[in-house]
Amino acid sequence: ARTGFVAGNWKMHGDLAQNRELLAAIVAGSQTLQNTSCAVCVPYPYLQQVQLMLEGSRVAWGGQNVSQHSHGAYTGEVSASMLADFGCQYVIVGHSERRTLYGEDNQSIAEKFCAAQKQSLLPILCVGETLEQREANETERVIAEQLDAVIDLAGIEAIKNSVIAYEPVWAIGTGKTATPQQAQDIHAFIRQRVATHSNEIAAAVQIVYGGSVKANNASELFAMPDIDGGLIGGASLVPAEFVSICLASQ
Ligand code: 13P
Repeated sequence: ARTGFVAGNWKMHGDLAQNRELLAAIVAGSQTLQNTSCAVCVPYPYLQQVQLMLEGSRVAWGGQNVSQHSHGAYTGEVSASMLADFGCQYVIVGHSERRTLYGEDNQSIAEKFCAAQKQSLLPILCVGETLEQREANETERVIAEQLDAVIDLAGIEAIKNSVIAYEPVWAIGTGKTATPQQAQDIHAFIRQRVATHSNEIAAAVQIVYGGSVKANNASELFAMPDIDGGLIGGASLVPAEFVSICLASQ
């Protein structure tokens, strides 16, 4: 069976002093974790702090974005090898905020996915529909396109070394969680889509849910057969919340 996975996406929050407290609490709270992994994805300037505080703990870390280029004249960008240099195991790719606020499209996201894997980072590939798309019955089409762009460029074998995050845009930061059944339906759809290429990879790949996951709704979401954990925004900044969400994924 698949093990659980919970990642915190800090987004653009934190400072050295707050991070120190949050990380210390997460390290302490994660000591008994079994059959699950957890990670925090932090703003670039704090990667060294996170590396120093999490090295040797049960908590991994990663970035929230990565350049599709390996190096070069790309002012303001950060490469996968730079993330690897600071001990990152993971990087979020294609978060809906990157797609909508920074114009990332399926093609550039697929390139970022490949750039991350080239440096042995595990991409956390985010897919999900907007409210308009859901209401227009386009959810499956949108998600299939987001997924297929990556499979077409990276190949199905690459999906093995990644995590897929289903994040319905209407549930992000809104306090409106997808119901466990709504989320399960899309997770099953994603797994089936992978299974059209490889049953083995479909059975193995971790698919996690993101969108207003809190300590009080994590267990019922994670109890669904195709939901393997979560990608956590707001609640990942609250030590007790994040730790109990990690515990719920065991
Ligand atoms: P919230 O948990 O704050 O809804 O954010 C979800 C998210 O975008 C994680 O990547």
